[in-house]
Amino acid sequence: MAIIGAQMCPWVSGRQGARDRPPGARRCFGRFTDPEDSLEVDSNPSAVYCFVPAVTFFASGRRPNTKMAAQPTVAFTFHKVREQCEQGSADAWRAFLDFYTPLGMHLLKMYLPSDGPEASRVWEQTLAALAENDFQRFRATEKQSEREFLLDLRALLLDQAALHAAAAASAAPASAPLVDREAVGKLLEGLPLLHQEMLFLKLAGYTDASIERMLRMAPRVAQAAFARLEPDYAEALKIESDRCLWPGQWLASLQAARAAKQEACPNLHQFLRIHDGQISWYDKEPVEKHVAGCRHCLEAWTALREATYWRKAAPAVPAAEIEKYLSLLPVAAAPKKSFLQRMFG
Ligand SMILES: [Zn+2]
Repeated sequence: MAIIGAQMCPWVSGRQGARDRPPGARRCFGRFTDPEDSLEVDSNPSAVYCFVPAVTFFASGRRPNTKMAAQPTVAFTFHKVREQCEQGSADAWRAFLDFYTPLGMHLLKMYLPSDGPEASRVWEQTLAALAENDFQRFRATEKQSEREFLLDLRALLLDQAALHAAAAASAAPASAPLVDREAVGKLLEGLPLLHQEMLFLKLAGYTDASIERMLRMAPRVAQAAFARLEPDYAEALKIESDRCLWPGQWLASLQAARAAKQEACPNLHQFLRIHDGQISWYDKEPVEKHVAGCRHCLEAWTALREATYWRKAAPAVPAAEIEKYLSLLPVAAAPKKSFLQRMFG
């Protein structure tokens, strides 16, 4: 299939090998004509996500994959989704749901573990909150970069989850350990930042394997810090799948941390630059020192690692579910496009 346009997605152009493709991303036949999008492609390949027009499957002799989300006829990037969702475009919201429902579901299964329909219900409430008053809440989310936007989305989602968890908290066993602000502060006190990150994610309910994938470092380096979890929080050391053991308390503690921003707290963008290795030791040392002593910033710092990783790694959601969520949103369907328009965007 011919690809036109000066700027192309790195997977199309061959600059990015198939093995480097984020697990959630599909084979990409897209093209990028917007220079800004192309910059985003180069600096952050995870932000790229091309929808494969249905015709591509037939052209390449492959059968359509019915498990995939319904195929919009344009290639979406974060910036396009962000802009067109504000206008209530159905295609953009479908792309939004396809991009972010997997992350939302992962976070909800992690922080609100249950076999029931809670995760789906909380996601629906989050979408309703975003769409309220002509997308007022959505308009207030971060516009500059996808990773900062993810933190806004995560905060809104976990606020909704906290409401559910608070209602269920009275049913928690009386023997459950305290995981409040003070208790967590004592556990983290005096530890280097990396060990704090690992201990924080461990207390949240992540397995060693997930911590290693998120931080790209084996948690055994923090074994001495993990020893602090004995004996009161020993259960967190034994978990075999990602799941928060104390949802009500933990979500309330994260909520309090998010609300505790101080004037001295560095800009989130500085965290991104440090995570990406784009800042000198001289500049990053005071920022890291601040994060190690500030619960608000430690929450944001680890949330950035978490959201960035699971945005790529969370399993895709079936098309039927995406359409179900889309049907709840006040969106306008796009006019039908011709065959040629579908082929070439
Ligand atoms: Zn701070």
